[in-house]
Amino acid sequence: MTRSFLASGDLHLLHQTLVQAGFEVIGPRVKDDAILFAPLNHVDELPWGWQEQADAGSYRLQHTAGRRAFAWNTGPQGLKPWLFQPEQVLWRADNTEEGLCFRAVAPKPKRLAFIGLRGCDLAALNIQDQHFMAGPYADRFYRAQREQLLIVAVNCARSADTCFCVSTGDGPEARSGFDLLLDELDDGYLLQSGSDRGAAIAAQLPLKKATGKQVTEANALLAGASRQQRIMPSEAELAQLVDRLDHPHWQQVAERCLACGNCTSVCPTCFCSKQDTEGDIRNRQAEQVQRWDSCFSEQHSYITGKVVRPEIRHRYRQWLVHKLATWQQQFGRSGCVGCGRCIAWCPVAIDLVEEARALLADKPPEDDHG
Ligand code: SF4
Ligand code: SF4
Repeated sequence: MTRSFLASGDLHLLHQTLVQAGFEVIGPRVKDDAILFAPLNHVDELPWGWQEQADAGSYRLQHTAGRRAFAWNTGPQGLKPWLFQPEQVLWRADNTEEGLCFRAVAPKPKRLAFIGLRGCDLAALNIQDQHFMAGPYADRFYRAQREQLLIVAVNCARSADTCFCVSTGDGPEARSGFDLLLDELDDGYLLQSGSDRGAAIAAQLPLKKATGKQVTEANALLAGASRQQRIMPSEAELAQLVDRLDHPHWQQVAERCLACGNCTSVCPTCFCSKQDTEGDIRNRQAEQVQRWDSCFSEQHSYITGKVVRPEIRHRYRQWLVHKLATWQQQFGRSGCVGCGRCIAWCPVAIDLVEEARALLADKPPEDDHG
């Protein structure tokens, strides 16, 4: 793909072109001391100069002297809540004199253009597409919103200490799934299109031909981001977790794990949900509500009168073995895209990479977590 150059001072024209094409623009903003995707009224609202310091159990934003809008890597959420909403009414029922009358709830998708998604976000989107849209029973809410998305992705020019997308093959370069892709340089953006829609947007921008020096600089930033990363065991190694179900390390993790579900909530590939039927006090109307659930919740494994994963060690084992090993049988790849969110947002600093390494070690390690 050929790359063009958009000067920093013209970034607002990309925003303007997306709005004129009928999209609501969603982009990264500093909110509640984190980077969150939210409606972006103007590029001035981007997190200029902000980057995160993330580590196990820790996420802090830091303002730097740099004037880059995309110097951060991840916030607590990517696309997931926009497509698979944390709470979704599926249908309603009225209790009438003629009997129960059921009404479907229609999806209300919006034309959304996302700016700032990363390679790991796009890989997670691809996994969620497989789950929600492949096969005969597609999720109509997910599908309706998915069909209205336009994606302007950004290559990562640095990695947080929690990132390991090189190991999973999902970053730091976004390779597919975008309409436009940016590399941020000091004075502007290398831009390439990944679809006809992206090319049509790009054609309306005051682009110049990218110079060899600019391409070399962008490639050097990507290479630097790759070098900064930690290493996760390979998929072939992770597949062996199914043979470690009796490893004593599960209990060591369980003694620290709060079963809070933060990790599954921030994970961009987790898709578990539950349904609740909620009636009004007069028993005239009821709603069927789908909500995010977590394999860390005791009730999530309640089957015909029995909780089949009664202890936290069973639930942590379910999360990790499914995400990293049996997911490979189900979807042809690991369920982890190396974003590191579950590591940063775990309140007790349980570290997926460290736990996987410990579980795969031939000899069970000493408990070094205190
Ligand atoms: S691993 Fe961490 S984030 Fe996940 S449930 Fe346990 S304590 Fe919560
Ligand atoms: S398991 Fe953790 S690192 Fe992997 S995709 Fe989910 S949140 Fe990201």
